[in-house]
Amino acid sequence: MPPFPYKIIRSKKLTTGTTISVHPEKGVIVRAPFWMPSFAIQKFIDEKTGWILRSLAKIKPTVSTKKYQEGEKHLYFGEEYPLKIKLIGQPVRTSVEMAEGLILVSLYYGHIEEKRDIEIKDGLLRWYLETGISVITEKVNLYTEKLGVNYSRIDIKKVSSIWGSCSPSNRLCFNRKLIMAPHEVVDYVVIHEVCHLVHRNHSSRFWGLVAKFDPRYKEHRRWLYRNHSLLSI
Ligand SMILES: [Zn+2]
Repeated sequence: MPPFPYKIIRSKKLTTGTTISVHPEKGVIVRAPFWMPSFAIQKFIDEKTGWILRSLAKIKPTVSTKKYQEGEKHLYFGEEYPLKIKLIGQPVRTSVEMAEGLILVSLYYGHIEEKRDIEIKDGLLRWYLETGISVITEKVNLYTEKLGVNYSRIDIKKVSSIWGSCSPSNRLCFNRKLIMAPHEVVDYVVIHEVCHLVHRNHSSRFWGLVAKFDPRYKEHRRWLYRNHSLLSI
């Protein structure tokens, strides 16, 4: 599933080739002849995803402007919560938890001032990863059970080019950034990948199955396209 919006323009000419261009304002434009089936266009986009992402990155670099300070807001399943930094006396690993509408970071007071932001950032990343694994595993179990299919394992990774993937050996992989998206959007990505355990393509039967579990999937897919750059750690 490509993590960018794109527009398909069909040409009436019989001989037109399939091309992709990346514009600073118009975004990703895919031109294809009228007779080309949707799955073939989708496959073409999938193959060019790496190139498209590199081109998009050149236009709009997503630089994290986070400072990891008290009160700064961070996303957690679609909601923003302020950071609360609690300095503690024991030299323990930085820990993060959700507490009364705050993201509470417990930090050893002995860390030098200049390195506190890195410590907090690393702690947050670990927390996102740990929470991500448990929440996503729960969702995957729910939908694989409903579908009566099995997966081999789940990985949550720091990947920028995809939201999720399903390998031929039924291994599911999800982007760590999903933990910042609203639950219904995470559900959509999980449903999308779990449905690939049944249909290994983006055929109309595949989308029919996705719609069965997530009738508003188009809206959720659009949310990911629009908010991709918001989800920075
Ligand atoms: Zn897919």
